[in-house]
Amino acid sequence: MTHTPQSLGTAFVEAQKHTLEEERTRLQSELSRIAKKDVVGDDYHARVEQIGRAPDENVVEEEQYEAARSVEQSLEVQLRDVNRALQRISDGIYGTCTKCGERIDQKRLEALPSAQACVKHAG
Ligand SMILES: [Zn+2]
Repeated sequence: MTHTPQSLGTAFVEAQKHTLEEERTRLQSELSRIAKKDVVGDDYHARVEQIGRAPDENVVEEEQYEAARSVEQSLEVQLRDVNRALQRISDGIYGTCTKCGERIDQKRLEALPSAQACVKHAG
């Protein structure tokens, strides 16, 4: 008996790569809509229109900024996962759990192409 994970089919990995690339494009356009990308690196910062200088306007701005920032952060996390999954495809280790090295269930990968851990080690 060996613990080497059974490899996923090339066609399946290609399809996952395609899905991940589309997801990356979607996330990047979402992010560029609500945030400003750093010139260097992959970091985004929430962008909020200046409404005005009155105190109540500042409160609205702050609330909008907080909302934009939390959306931005969740998009950024998703983008990071997608990029990591694409990297794992090019490294030839896509679909194996980062914790135990076992092969991640194909159904799980279909539902979540950027999954990096098996069901047991997720979260
Ligand atoms: Zn695992």
